[in-house]
Amino acid sequence: TLAAPVLEVTDLHVSYGKVEALHGVNLKVGAGQIVTVIGPNGAGKSTMLNAIADALPASGAIRGTVSLAGNDMHGVAVETRVAQGMSLVPEKRELFSSMSVEDNLRLGSYRRYKAGEKNYGDQLDVVFDLFPRLRERRRQDAGTLSGGERQMLALGRALMAKPQLLMLDEPSLGLAPLIVKEIFNIIMRLKQTGVAILLVEQNARAALQTADYAYVLETGDVALEGPAEQLAHDPKVMDTYLGLA
Ligand code: ATP
Repeated sequence: TLAAPVLEVTDLHVSYGKVEALHGVNLKVGAGQIVTVIGPNGAGKSTMLNAIADALPASGAIRGTVSLAGNDMHGVAVETRVAQGMSLVPEKRELFSSMSVEDNLRLGSYRRYKAGEKNYGDQLDVVFDLFPRLRERRRQDAGTLSGGERQMLALGRALMAKPQLLMLDEPSLGLAPLIVKEIFNIIMRLKQTGVAILLVEQNARAALQTADYAYVLETGDVALEGPAEQLAHDPKVMDTYLGLA
C-alpha cells in the first residue's frame, strides 16, 4: 500500500465568529514535496496554515480533518503537533529580540528536549551549515539582525524541531529581491533533506518556480490546483498572479 501523505487536509472550514474564512479546503503534501498555496490578500492562506498547526486565535473555529502522516490531529495540541513533526514559521516571525541567535535556535528544539531528546547540538550544526551567516552571528541579539537574517533565523529555529512537515508563511515578505532569491534557494536545499514543505506566498512567480504542486486560494476556496509548472503557464494564473496578460 502507498504511504499516507505527510499532510492531508480534508474539507477544512475555519470561522472567526460568524464569518467563515475557509469554505472546505482539500490539500495534500507528499513526502519530499514542495507544495505552494498562492492567492491574494485575505484569501485565507495564513488561516489555513494556522488551522493546520493549531495556532488559530481563540475566536477561530475549525471543521474538517487534518492528518499528519495518516494520524488525525483532531484534539492534538500544538506542542504535540510540533513533537510529531509539524513546524510553522509564522508570518510574524516571533523571534525573541533580546536573546541571542543561538538561544533563539535552542528554543526551536525545546519541545523535543522536553520529550526526552537531550542532544540538540547536532541539529544546531545542521542549521549552522545551512545558514553560515547565523553561525557567524550566533552571539548577536536577534533584534539586531537584518530582515533577511531574521527570516533565516526563523527558518533555522523551525528546523531545530527536526520537522517532517515545514510550513512557511510568506517567507519572502518584506525582503529585497536578492535576499528573496537566497531564501528560495535555501528552500530548494531544504527539500533535498527530505522534509515536506508547505509554502504560502504572495510572490507567485518565485513560489511556482520552486514548488512541485500548487493551489490557488481565492476567498476561502481552492480556485485552481495542479503541478506548479502547469499553473505557471495557465492563462488565468499568468494574467492574475504573474502580471503576464
Ligand atoms: P494575507 O496574505 O493578507 O495575510 P491571507 O490569505 O493569509 O492574507 P488570512 O489572513 O488568512 O488571509 O485572512 C482570511 C480572512 O479571515 C480575511 O477576511 C481576514 O479578515 C479574516 N481573518 C483573519 N484573521 C482573523 C481574526 N483573527 N478574526 C477575524 N477575522 C479574521
